[in-house]
Amino acid sequence: MIDLSQIPRFTGHALERDGHTCRIQGPRCQGRATEVDHIQPGDNHDPNNLQAVCTPCHATKTGKENAARLNASRPRRRREPEPHPGILRPDEMQSRRSQGVAGDPL
Ligand SMILES: [Zn+2]
Repeated sequence: MIDLSQIPRFTGHALERDGHTCRIQGPRCQGRATEVDHIQPGDNHDPNNLQAVCTPCHATKTGKENAARLNASRPRRRREPEPHPGILRPDEMQSRRSQGVAGDPL
């Protein structure tokens, strides 16, 4: 259970600690931090895991994290895709070459 009363104290601390300056400094950075980001996403509100960020940088980072999480939770294919039967693996090519197979264009 998260103690929500703890969060404002930590977030204010992170903003002040970082001098209200965005720590991400991404391409759309506004410079002045008004939000606090979790460096490692999750419920770790330790000051070491918090950084001051501006709104555009925070939105970009959060968007990437959400996309990564969606990707990770997506069910995996049941089977690995099979290689095309006409494609030789490098080890097969090697053995064909060393056997001097007639008509081998290599
Ligand atoms: Zn920024």
